[in-house]
Amino acid sequence: MIYLDYSATTKADKEVLETFVKVNTNYFGNPNSLHKLGVEAKELIEEATKKISLNLNVLKENIIYTSGATEANNLVLKGVTERNKGMHIITSSLEHSSIYGPVSELQKKGFKIDFVNLDNNGLVDLNHLKELLTNDTILVSIASVNSETGILQPIESIAEIVKRYSKAYFHSDMTQSIGKVSVNIENVDLISLSAHKIYGIKGIGILIKKDNVKLKPLLHGGHSTTIYRSGTPTTSLIASMSKAITLAINNLNTNYEKVYEINQYLINKLSDYSYIFINSNEHSIPHILNISLKGIKPLVFQTALSQKNIYISTQSACSGKNEISSSVLAITNNEQLAKTCLRISLSHLTTKKEIDCFVNELINLYERLDINENN
Ligand code: PMP
Repeated sequence: MIYLDYSATTKADKEVLETFVKVNTNYFGNPNSLHKLGVEAKELIEEATKKISLNLNVLKENIIYTSGATEANNLVLKGVTERNKGMHIITSSLEHSSIYGPVSELQKKGFKIDFVNLDNNGLVDLNHLKELLTNDTILVSIASVNSETGILQPIESIAEIVKRYSKAYFHSDMTQSIGKVSVNIENVDLISLSAHKIYGIKGIGILIKKDNVKLKPLLHGGHSTTIYRSGTPTTSLIASMSKAITLAINNLNTNYEKVYEINQYLINKLSDYSYIFINSNEHSIPHILNISLKGIKPLVFQTALSQKNIYISTQSACSGKNEISSSVLAITNNEQLAKTCLRISLSHLTTKKEIDCFVNELINLYERLDINENN
């Protein structure tokens, strides 16, 4: 098997799985129970949360556990708009569907939504952002890394503009960046992340909510680790996520170097073929390489490669079967490229041998397929 879809999800790390099993075996008590088993589970959660707070450099009271980044993003958009004044939201055309979903619900309720312009590199146009901010702006939500093209936004500068020119909160979906690249989160009010993108287990994520943010919970009833998200705390998921974050942060630099080398190796190999165009650019993190192959139908390619046990994505796993990648369109302004793109996502675990094999199969497939038939 050649797995090149690490931005869709990762296989849980062995130590993460061991933590999950150990905690489920030895600390299965309900953390809300007042007996010894409950107290032990609660203490374990406190310890795991403390580690996360140290690794991410945030207060432990600011950590809200959710089921994943989708829930964290929904909690931000719905929870902020219910509790604060203002009917204007600014976002970008490089967001995940778990931002667009709640945004379109809010639009139906009368909120005004603006999409900030992007420059030729796909980066937020900071002057336009400044122009869009008004007294009525309640929230600015911009992902740090776009999941389809890997474009990394200048989060520090965006945060500074939001703070300087408005009273709006700044939220960033950091699902594709935390644990992969270092991002300065100092002036970011709300941050979403998910364990399964960093070799953790599916079903847990975090919303970091700084003290200044007023937020209405989506779920009510049932004591939890915070008042913002009800439900019995998931001790084993929390402990395993803490482990995944520790591993990711401790190995950030060495893992980054490995991914960067593999990314350059892949780009170099692909550059031999004139019908392959690279959509990711120098602002993309090396973990995500988006390419277009002239005239192809991405789904045909994804399926054919999958039959050979090679796994890549057409777009983000959550964008369904959309014919066109809105992210690639946003950064290239080229419909043909946006209709013919594939996302290859890399890991520190990816080997050059895997890349060789993938490129061979990709080229064989392209050259074998009659392009008219493929169309
Ligand atoms: N945001 C981004 C940028 C993502 O890539 C994803 C996962 N594809 C999500 C949110 C949703 O995360 P989860 O699967 O934890 O709900």
